[in-house]
Amino acid sequence: MRLEELDKLDRKGWGTLAEGLQLRTRLFIDGEFVEAADGGRFQTINPATGEVLAEVSRAREADVDRAVAAARRAFRSGVWSRMAPRERMAVLYRFADLIEANAGELALTDTLDMGKPISDMVGIDLPSVVETFRYFAECIDKVEGKVTATESDVLHYVLREPLGVVGAISPWNYPMLMAVWKIAPALAAGNTVVLKPAEQAPLSCLRLAELFVEAGGPAGVLNVLAGYGEDAGRALALHPDVAKITFTGSTEVGKKILTYAGESNMKKVSLECGGKTPQLFLGDLPDLERAVEAAYNGIYANMGEVCNAGSRLLVDGRIHDDFVACFVEKGREAYRPGDPLDPATTMGPLVTAEAQQRVLGYVEAGKGEGAELRFGGVVPEGLERGAYVSPALFTGVRNDMRIAREEIFGPVASVIRFDGLEQAVEIANDTIYGLAASVWTRDLGTAHRLVRDLEAGVIWVNCFDEGDMTQPFGGYKQSGNARDKCFDSLLEYTQTKSAWFRLS
Ligand code: NAD
Repeated sequence: MRLEELDKLDRKGWGTLAEGLQLRTRLFIDGEFVEAADGGRFQTINPATGEVLAEVSRAREADVDRAVAAARRAFRSGVWSRMAPRERMAVLYRFADLIEANAGELALTDTLDMGKPISDMVGIDLPSVVETFRYFAECIDKVEGKVTATESDVLHYVLREPLGVVGAISPWNYPMLMAVWKIAPALAAGNTVVLKPAEQAPLSCLRLAELFVEAGGPAGVLNVLAGYGEDAGRALALHPDVAKITFTGSTEVGKKILTYAGESNMKKVSLECGGKTPQLFLGDLPDLERAVEAAYNGIYANMGEVCNAGSRLLVDGRIHDDFVACFVEKGREAYRPGDPLDPATTMGPLVTAEAQQRVLGYVEAGKGEGAELRFGGVVPEGLERGAYVSPALFTGVRNDMRIAREEIFGPVASVIRFDGLEQAVEIANDTIYGLAASVWTRDLGTAHRLVRDLEAGVIWVNCFDEGDMTQPFGGYKQSGNARDKCFDSLLEYTQTKSAWFRLS
């Protein structure tokens, strides 16, 4: 079903669509679905029910070799890298159209695979995936080389060329979107791609690969391997014929990717990793209710499974008690865990039972370290079958507690009180991460000063988690070394070649 028709579906309608859903469960290599070389498979689980959703082919090193060889052949043949830019553009536009036309099935696949509410898939993920391909399609013929100023008997020009085979490794929290932030600019720049989506939610990306070929993408240009990180992901990152690894995931694995690059062929590496985003609520903020709303949306949306989730709420002592009272009143009921296939549900289960146990463990750690649990942080009644955790709020948190230092990746908010701007900046920056931050104040001068002083790649002022495709998205410090979205991210999938002509 097309994207614009999906708003009409109710729970029953999604249930009917789910009954007829045909999942793609094999690896996509060189334009076709194939079994893993050793015939291996693994299970993906629907975290809302704990039931097996599908048995998926499990790629290992031999399959990575096969996929990289296909991508390399396709790259060297020039079938994509030398395709006229406007033709390449047309393929990506058709691809975006096909994603839109198959949006129902794609949305459903991710909701069943990782538990995200169907309303988020329809309202956020799918439109963003389509927009990403359209944006990077538009960019294709805007990539330019240059002629530089040299002595008169010399002509010197600089070409921008694609890199070759790009290996993309993506997480499960936005199963398609995080992959597409990588593969869209990589493909737009003329590279070929081997994508390894996360093992927790690989199914939608397998279908995307098929749609790419239907859109006119040549075989071998986009290959997708379902499989585990430590075998398929590692083999891809170590592969000598991969020119670049573009990775989104945890900081811990990001560091491993850097070592794999060093151990193999010094491939380029771009990393988008974890975060522990501070939201700074100053005493003069313009509208307390709006700020509190941004605070709970910023940590509870997508079950808190968001890299830039506003997990640390730094609140000025002057408004602390009012802020907390308002949060407890409005935030407690704002997100009700429920059936993710019901369009009214705003919070699904966490991605796996392990993730649920990890998040519950953090709730215990917070209590153990003396923070006050104001609500939530338990398995909701009636939802014991799934990997659910109810949204939680801690107050009285110190920045040296584990819940303030470690990425929980779940719906757990921590309020940290501060007194004075200097202390706010010190606490905000006292973290290994630097993905994003926000500032709530009426004072323009203070806002500019904080934009300068906060160590993060994205700063929001009097809002949270807004943006569009022109926005460079990525982190300072151990949140990564690259930027997704934006025109410049496309250039990160190119390299320059300098041609120096002696004319006399
Ligand atoms: P993860 O690091 O566990 O896994 C990410 C990907 O890496 C998966 O595909 C996984 O299979 C693969 N992988 C795991 N071990 C590997 C290895 N040894 N070699 C190669 N690949 C390996 O992360 P996750 O749990 O899937 O996702 C959550 C993390 O992603 C969080 O830390 C979150 O902050 C981060 N994230 C960051 C951004 C961003 O833009 N900065 C966006 C979304 C998610």
